[in-house]
Amino acid sequence: SSEAALVDGLIEAIPDFPQKGVTFRDLTPVFADGAALKALATALTRPFEGHFDSIGGLEARGFLIAGAASVVSGAGVLSVRKAGKLPRAVLSQEYALEYGTAAFEVHVGQLPAGSRVLIIDDVLATGGTALAAVNLIERAGWHVAGFAVALELDGLGGRSKLEERGVETFSLLQY
Ligand code: IMP
Repeated sequence: SSEAALVDGLIEAIPDFPQKGVTFRDLTPVFADGAALKALATALTRPFEGHFDSIGGLEARGFLIAGAASVVSGAGVLSVRKAGKLPRAVLSQEYALEYGTAAFEVHVGQLPAGSRVLIIDDVLATGGTALAAVNLIERAGWHVAGFAVALELDGLGGRSKLEERGVETFSLLQY
């Protein structure tokens, strides 16, 4: 699609970041381009149109896409934040990083029970981050409408983990 081509043309491959041997896909040029960010937000929400009430943005790069997706779709953003940032009562979900663990948090009762949440992030790799968000949203009493991502890195198992969990997954680009 023209949306995919526009976004693809702006993603930069950065060798050896954050460590030697890793190629980091940098989406900041996409976020910095108004037409590309809007195209990305439109492409990620379109497959789920009519099937979500809220957009779960994953801190931090997911927030940028989620905000744009909110404007194009009319749904608000559920803040899925890193541990320790939210001021009210939270539910917490730990997940494994390459070294150590991290946790996502949401405010308890932020959305009505049964709300359908479309989760959005920039990159899907092993799926650990996405699954943590899925678990958290379900534990909070909401329904996961799907997971949408700008870029899916093939061969790392992310998609199959999400599909095993019954989560419909959409990626604009696959590398
Ligand atoms: P996963 O948990 O292994 O699927 O990794 C996905 C998470 O790591 C997402 O929140 C991404 O923002 C981040 N991530 C992994 N690889 C990249 C990359 O190449 N570029 C940007 N973010 C990445």
